[in-house]
Amino acid sequence: MTDSSGSGTWSQSNHRGTVNVDPVSVRGQRAGSGPAPARPLPAGLKQAHEAAVASLQQAYTAVPPGTKVRLAKRTSNLFRFRDQPAGSRVTQLDVSAFSRVLHVDPESRTAVVGGMTTYEDLADATLRHGLMPFVVPQLKTITLGGAVTGLGIESTSLRLGMPHESVLAMEILTGDGQVVTATADNEHADLFRGFPNSYGTLGYALSLTIELEPVAPFVHLRHFRFHDPETCMEAIAKIGAEGSYEGHRADFVDGTMFSLDELYLTVGAFSEVAPWTSDYAGHQIFYQSLRGRSDVYRSLVAFDRRHGLSGKLAQRRGQPPREDVIQDVEIPVGRGAEFLRFFAADVGMSPVWLCPLRLRSDQAWPLYPLAPGEVYVNFGFWGTVPLPQGRADGYHNRLVEDEVAALGGHKGLYSTSFYTEEQFWASYNGPAYAALKQRYDGGGRLAGLYEKCVRGQ
Ligand SMILES: Cc1cc2nc3c(=O)[nH]c(=O)nc-3n(C[C@H](O)[C@H](O)[C@H](O)COP(=O)(O)OP(=O)(O)OC[C@H]3O[C@@H](n4cnc5c(N)ncnc54)[C@H](O)[C@@H]3O)c2cc1C
Repeated sequence: MTDSSGSGTWSQSNHRGTVNVDPVSVRGQRAGSGPAPARPLPAGLKQAHEAAVASLQQAYTAVPPGTKVRLAKRTSNLFRFRDQPAGSRVTQLDVSAFSRVLHVDPESRTAVVGGMTTYEDLADATLRHGLMPFVVPQLKTITLGGAVTGLGIESTSLRLGMPHESVLAMEILTGDGQVVTATADNEHADLFRGFPNSYGTLGYALSLTIELEPVAPFVHLRHFRFHDPETCMEAIAKIGAEGSYEGHRADFVDGTMFSLDELYLTVGAFSEVAPWTSDYAGHQIFYQSLRGRSDVYRSLVAFDRRHGLSGKLAQRRGQPPREDVIQDVEIPVGRGAEFLRFFAADVGMSPVWLCPLRLRSDQAWPLYPLAPGEVYVNFGFWGTVPLPQGRADGYHNRLVEDEVAALGGHKGLYSTSFYTEEQFWASYNGPAYAALKQRYDGGGRLAGLYEKCVRGQ
């Protein structure tokens, strides 16, 4: 392992300066340890929001039976593309009234946010008060509701868990047309806990009350290089145990693997001072810019899927067809190196994004049962690889699914999946899902999770 930035210094080579960071984080304390309790919405806002909810509920109830319902959203970060059967009827629900921040309360450090609000707008609103959501996904167009129902992760996730773990309350239009408020301890606690990883198949989150944490004006980054995956995973486990690395507090951690002997962890600490600053947003690094504008990338992939352009081009050039391998998986840190070695040998795509996480709560979330207390590493990869001769589309994705299961991991469901129904329900808690579906969408108004995520309906 080498430290590419020099001990205790800022990571830009032409300007050096020393900044001391306290290795123990004081941020992200559990609710109740600092700020006041969340307060209800101011009256005027409440009234306008209730009118929007009533109007949406009416529109939903008026959708004729047999017609599929979709959210009319400007952007999406789903990499599953639906094959709409000919003649099928679809109604787009106008949810534009739920795409803004309703209220930020600096005293209780909470915000009430429309379910379809993008993180870009959410972060803008909270930063005005010196606060940020506990987890801010890198892709700006991801919405709060999308990240909670479809799971999210980012470089604060080792310290603060996943976006759904800083939700205090959710107002949900359920599949059977009711509007309920679900919290961790009310009569809809089952929906509160089962909503993450339900992908809009139990209902739609219309507003969410979330916790926020204070920010500092700067983040001090250090990049650490590793020459093998084993040492890199050991470093992540150490950061998980100690909250810092080489004396540098780990408010943020993520990393990148370019090859088995070139891996980096980037460790960030909030800082009140900065001898100089840098902003990667302007650098246009290709793979990072793809992730930054995943909605654009998604449109390009969708266009290619519809017209088969890259396949035709490869055929004309005498090249093998290529398979999209666009996935995020979570593997226990103790098995992470095995996964990276498998991935390099059998899939061979780089770079791979690494993002460590640990649940913030001490209870598992039923539909995505990560073990409380365990450190996982999320490996994200978004690209295409050539298919070996005689192999059909899905070959590499199936290998990934099998390896994830063998290593005791989990796979996110925003992209393609190939599981049999039996494998799927064994991984995503079939009995818990069945009970929730029965209670909140007994008439099957919304697609089921397997139909939506694997069959692409
Ligand atoms: C290339 C790529 C990189 C990614 N990187 C990250 C990352 O860095 N960090 C991260 O956290 N995540 C990442 N994701 C995953 C992303 O967070 C999920 O795909 C998320 O569900 C997308 O949310 P969205 O708001 O764009 O929703 P959409 O893509 O529009 O919808 C996702 C699903 O959620 C449902 N849904 C949307 N809004 C609601 C709502 N309000 N209530 C109920 N259901 C709803 C939709 O019906 C749909 O099934 C990545 C995905 C891709 C493709």
